[in-house]
Amino acid sequence: TVTRLRPFATTIFAEMTDLAVRHAAVNLGQGFPDSDGPAAMLETARAAIADGLNQYPPGRGMPGLRAAIAADRARRYGTEYDPDREVLVTVGATEAIAAAMLGLIEPGAEVVLIEPYYDSYAAAVALAGAHRRTARLVPDGDGFALDLDSVRAAISPTTRMIVVNSPHNPTGTVLSRAESTAIAELACEHDLLVVTDEVYEHLTYDGHEHVSLSTLPGMQDRTVVISSAAKTFSVTGWKIGWACGPAELIDAALAAKQFLTFVGGAPFQPAVAYALEHEQAWVTAQRAVLSAKRLRLAAALADAGLAVHRSSGSYFVCAGIAGLGERDALAFCRALPGRIGVAAVPVSVFADDRAAWNSLVRFTFCKRDETLAEGMHRLARLP
Ligand code: PMP
Ligand code: GLN
Repeated sequence: TVTRLRPFATTIFAEMTDLAVRHAAVNLGQGFPDSDGPAAMLETARAAIADGLNQYPPGRGMPGLRAAIAADRARRYGTEYDPDREVLVTVGATEAIAAAMLGLIEPGAEVVLIEPYYDSYAAAVALAGAHRRTARLVPDGDGFALDLDSVRAAISPTTRMIVVNSPHNPTGTVLSRAESTAIAELACEHDLLVVTDEVYEHLTYDGHEHVSLSTLPGMQDRTVVISSAAKTFSVTGWKIGWACGPAELIDAALAAKQFLTFVGGAPFQPAVAYALEHEQAWVTAQRAVLSAKRLRLAAALADAGLAVHRSSGSYFVCAGIAGLGERDALAFCRALPGRIGVAAVPVSVFADDRAAWNSLVRFTFCKRDETLAEGMHRLARLP
């Protein structure tokens, strides 16, 4: 392995899911649902295969899907993207993140990440031969807030990009309009590109509103918006994601994408287009379902003696383990499947400053009621 990829040899999701399988544990670690998305969407994919849609689609993605993505952004955020030049279909948000980094960041340049950060950002920065600088979230009441000073401090003359993820994995934080505006102002002041990872854009709770940075003044021209069908339509295995942005930035990501995967899976594309156009009610209902699961899991974690943090969005709720006498989240999560038959993910692995996040553990609630109930039952075995 080349030196710069050595820190990324295995992902925490692979490790914890492997442990969950070996111990027959309830997997509240890796964020994937154990139920299917809208039936008519699944049927559209089946029909596409039956109809012979089984060869390479266009590199930018099938026109119908690109049009559906652009229409969805226009309807929900009021931002216009030309489906032919400003929308790129990717193999999940993961590829969009990597392609944006590879296409837009020169080796040696700096990229600001906000920790805790989703693991693929640091790996993509490393793939590009660039350097990451980290800003951070900090505890705020029962949740987390952006430490704006840390963002300012992380920006240097060689900074080219900042990556922003809201609703946030792993903490479930939804950045406020004020926090988003502050980031946008810094991006404009320092002439930074912005990648916004909005894969949980539909999953906000308790009246929290998702603000896409692309909608703020001066931002659409410098922002690559990334999202995915994975979480919106419960199809994490389909790997259909997308990037929207100015043609010049999308062309740069496409240049990289062509040689990573060339194109994405054909029969899934009309199905996702169908879902974007016709399954908004399903998405809205799913949000309410997930919100209720979130509250049930949070209550069970609190009953088990963990210090639960507020989750306002995403698939995840985080909880502190110091009250259980535990001080090492990674060791705790490695032991948990064998100890009580539950898998979870340590937040420390999403941070360069591991010590700061060492007592926090992420649990997902995107599971069927039976799965969640069994997980909660087992959590009661703690300590
Ligand atoms: N970004 C975040 C914040 C995620 O949680 C995930 C996992 N869904 C991804 C990106 C990757 O998305 P995809 O599965 O579409 O590649
Ligand atoms: N995004 C999912 C999570 O955060 C899993 C992604 C993965 O397995 N790489 O749990």
